[in-house]
Amino acid sequence: VENQITMLDIIQLLPDSIANQIAAGEVVQRPASVLKELLENAIDAKATMVQVILKDAGRTLLHIIDDGIGMSQTDARMSFERHATSKIRNSDDLFKIKTMGFRGEALASIAAVAQVELRTKRADDEIGVLLKIEASEFKAQEAISTPTGTAILVKNLFYNVPARRNFLKSNPIEMKHLIDEFQRVALANPEIGFTLFHNDVEIYNLIPCKLNRRITDIFGKTYREQLATCQEETSFVSISGYIGKPESAKKSRGEQFFFVNKRFIRSSYLHHAVVNAFEATIPAGYSPFYVLFIEIAPEHIDINIHPTKTEIKFDDERSVYAMIQATVRKAVGVYNLTPTIDFDADINFNRLGFDNLVDVKPSPGSSFKNDTSFETNVSTRERSNLQNWSSLFEGLSKEKTNPVIDFEEDFATGPIKIASKINRIEIQPDNTDAIQIMNRYVVTEYNNGMLLIDQRAAYERILFEKYSNQLKNHNGSSQQLLFPKTITLQAADYVLVTEIKAEIIALGFQFEEFGQNTIIINGVPSDAQEENEKELFEGFIQQYKESVNDIDINRIERIARSFAKRNAYKYIKKLSKIEVNLLVHQLFDTSMPGLTPSGEATIVTLSIERLAQLIFNQR
Ligand code: ADP
Ligand code: MG
Repeated sequence: VENQITMLDIIQLLPDSIANQIAAGEVVQRPASVLKELLENAIDAKATMVQVILKDAGRTLLHIIDDGIGMSQTDARMSFERHATSKIRNSDDLFKIKTMGFRGEALASIAAVAQVELRTKRADDEIGVLLKIEASEFKAQEAISTPTGTAILVKNLFYNVPARRNFLKSNPIEMKHLIDEFQRVALANPEIGFTLFHNDVEIYNLIPCKLNRRITDIFGKTYREQLATCQEETSFVSISGYIGKPESAKKSRGEQFFFVNKRFIRSSYLHHAVVNAFEATIPAGYSPFYVLFIEIAPEHIDINIHPTKTEIKFDDERSVYAMIQATVRKAVGVYNLTPTIDFDADINFNRLGFDNLVDVKPSPGSSFKNDTSFETNVSTRERSNLQNWSSLFEGLSKEKTNPVIDFEEDFATGPIKIASKINRIEIQPDNTDAIQIMNRYVVTEYNNGMLLIDQRAAYERILFEKYSNQLKNHNGSSQQLLFPKTITLQAADYVLVTEIKAEIIALGFQFEEFGQNTIIINGVPSDAQEENEKELFEGFIQQYKESVNDIDINRIERIARSFAKRNAYKYIKKLSKIEVNLLVHQLFDTSMPGLTPSGEATIVTLSIERLAQLIFNQR
């Protein structure tokens, strides 16, 4: 009997619904992939106006409405079959693809992992059709009256694939992906109008226009003065678009766009061509803004790779490289785009002074050998280590009216020892006045020598604890503005701001959402009165975004850290006598005076022995 079973043929064709679900794993990774496919279908259908409506970062709803050519009843039904496409017919067509789609997989895949409703009508048809599909199963088909074009509603993405659903990231992250896809398609098709709504809030309303207008409509008016035209053409390839001036180059990537025949691609090779063309006008590590269109005959490229990949193969990549470099170089030259700001202005100074000061190695066997500096120990440690051992501080109690450092222990033996030390510094607040040096450091006495405090780092710790408390107790005090300030944000930032609105208000900001990525600031934290409200707000958001890598901290801590970091810089300034002494007291009143929230040292100690040695070594 056993033998007989093994003798049976066991291979079966998968049912379509399962095959589609497997294919969906490739095509539909997240809401943004659905948006990309549906936007591309609308473009291929020659839409002039495309509306996008999202709920919950696309989890519960993606609704894409176009005024394109629409579909017949039969085509509408066919469109959900796998490998069903109107865009290619034979293998020759594969080498002259002019449309965005051609695989015929998208609709079948999406319908396999969501509840989909399609409404469509062609211009010449009186009546349109409504189709309902759930998990690849047709649920309903009705004749309906509907405008010319196609509307596709995708509800409850991955409702039947919990593993996929759980794999999704937080709403702001999914929203960022959605906005990225939207921006790419909108940039590639400025002659088409686009709107984007998220949870009933309008995020973009982009009218049909020229590319330069589209760029400023997406990225903000400040880009208007920053753009330089690129335009070159040979029989092989044509390059057109805009580059940003060198001074608008940023450290973060994300505003670099290549489109090959209107298809967004990534290419570090071609990116290099652009950066190279800027030569020394931008410093290493900075990336210029660019939106560059490469038009090339389809037979010279191979887009037939993975459906969600954004790479592309050129048959002669080096010529494309050379062409881009020449085009950009010319644009840089023609517009004489020389940088006007000093990129090297380094506000992150805190290592400098310390290292020089403590760069005296104790001689081996010397009785001073334990007294190496706090800073040197910290700076030689890995960041990850810092993260770990800064958590050791957490349990320490707040009884530090007279913190003491114990120098009997060996600094070199590891993080725990170092962590334990800073709470045992005994400062001498009453007898001594602290003094300020170079607007950046504060020097004071402790029981066994001298303390050197980095003002900026110290304020980062002080402000962090202050903001943390405000966020927990929702009692940040606010100063009403006489003239409310309107700020227009990048779309992704706007979404982020609405997400963390409650916390921003707890810090002392007062603002209203105005729609169109705009907020109105009515009040600012009262300790920030003298500041430019716009810079303060944007600086905070920037800092918050940069902190996304600190994944293991919670939102409140992240917000407190970001705002503290942003605001600590303004304390690099002349302080009054009272302020200097207050700084020392406030710092030692925090739970971890020795470290900033992200684990940088705030203090260097120099013991009397060490001071003596410094002098002695000079003799
Ligand atoms: P592909 O785009 O690769 O052809 P899709 O699964 O995305 O595959 O779409 C299948 C077919 O459905 C398309 O080839 C097109 O004929 C039709 N279709 C899809 N979306 C639209 C739309 N918005 N308007 C008109 N036709 C559409
Ligand atoms: Mg498609």
